[in-house]
Parts: sequence; structure tokens; C-alpha cells
Amino acid sequence: MFNSPILQMGYPTEASGSLIEKKPTVVFVLGGPGSGKGTQCANIVKHFGYTHFSAGDLLRAEIKSGSENGTMIQNMIKEGKIVPSEVTIRLLQKAILQSGNDKFLIDGFPRNEENRAAFEAIMLIEPAFVLYFECSEGEMERRLLGRNQGREDDNIETIRKRFRVFLESSIPVIEYYESKGKVRKINAGKPIEEVFEAVRTIFTAQDDKIAA
Ligand code: UDP
Ligand code: MG
Repeated sequence: MFNSPILQMGYPTEASGSLIEKKPTVVFVLGGPGSGKGTQCANIVKHFGYTHFSAGDLLRAEIKSGSENGTMIQNMIKEGKIVPSEVTIRLLQKAILQSGNDKFLIDGFPRNEENRAAFEAIMLIEPAFVLYFECSEGEMERRLLGRNQGREDDNIETIRKRFRVFLESSIPVIEYYESKGKVRKINAGKPIEEVFEAVRTIFTAQDDKIAA
């Protein structure tokens, strides 16, 4: 059931084959809107050689490219709603396949249980671990309203909707991975450098594990 939309979108079978051969290391980076996922991912890229894909950025690029899904994606983002899995997964799949790397940070995805199950079923990839940035809503709201990136969804009304979607739909994904012992939780309510020290400890341990 998950396979057909992706196949209809014309991915050659050898693409899926090379993805399996690649056996990439995937880390999901989750946390509420404004918890600092993008900022910390940039630091991880610099220090640990991962390639960073933000699902939200890929969706915004898809809107800009004038794709036929653009208007639907734009409307969903404006409402803080979760875009259908097949759209987001197709973009992630393409990005991973086109990258020369084998270590990926996937930021802001999966956002609900359906995203998670579809990704695992289509990509046949389970994350090495899930980095979870925990932050209070008050602090996240302050950051979002202060960041001024010209995003249509950084207004107080949409922010509140995004908080609700995070609690209702994304927390269950974190709980699922928690039950598998895969969540590395970070206190993200602190200054960028302090948060990165905690992040660094986790990625250093992961590197040691791969090397061992
Ligand atoms: N979005 C989505 N699926 C994803 C990632 C993002 O539908 O896998 C949409 C959703 O509407 C979300 C918006 O894109 O509210 C912005 O996501 P992003 O991760 O860029 O923002 P953040 O919540 O991290 O500030
Ligand atoms: Mg982001």
C-alpha cells in the first residue's frame, strides 16, 4: 500500500537497490517548532560529517520549484498540518539517493506515526537513534516570533497549531522510539553552545560505536 505512490512517481528500481546497498546511517532529529533542530544540525554537519536534510526545507523548496503539489503543500504548511507521507518521503528518498554521503540527519521528520511507518516500509531503513530536543513552549514561542525568517507559519496563530500537532502527533513517534531504547533526549532550552556540548557527547559516543 505504501509502495505504489512512490513507484508511480517513477523511481527506477536500481535507485531502490542502490539505497539498500548504501545501508545509510540515519538519525532522526525531532523536537517542537523552534526547539533548535536546524541550528544544531548545522553544528553536527560541521563536526561529524553528516549530511542534513530538513523535511520542512525540502517541502518549501518543492513549493518554490513550481511543482504540481506546491499549492497543496503551501496550504498545509500555512495551517501547520502534516503533508501526506508519500510527498515528503519521495523528497527525502531523492535527496538521500543523490547525496554522495552515507550518514544523514533527517530533521523534522517523521512527524506522525504514519510518516514513521511509511518511511520504514518504503526505505527499509531504521534510524540509528533519534535525537530529541526538549524545550518548553514558552521558549519555543519566543524563538519563533523572534527569528524573522519570513516564514508564513511563524505567526502566533499557526505556531499554536504547530504546538498542538507536535503534542498530538509527533510525541507518539518519540514514545515509539523510546520503547525501542533509541531516543537521546537533550535539554534544548539553553544557549546554542551549551546544547551543542550535550549533542557532541551523543555523536562522539555514536562514532566510537561505529569504530568499535
Ligand atoms: N512539514 C510536514 N512534514 C514534514 C516536515 C514538515 O508536513 O515531514 C510541514 C508542516 O506543515 C510543518 C512545516 O512543514 O508545520 C514546517 O516544518 P519545519 O520542520 O520546517 O518547521 P519546525 O516545526 O521545525 O519549525
Ligand atoms: Mg526547522
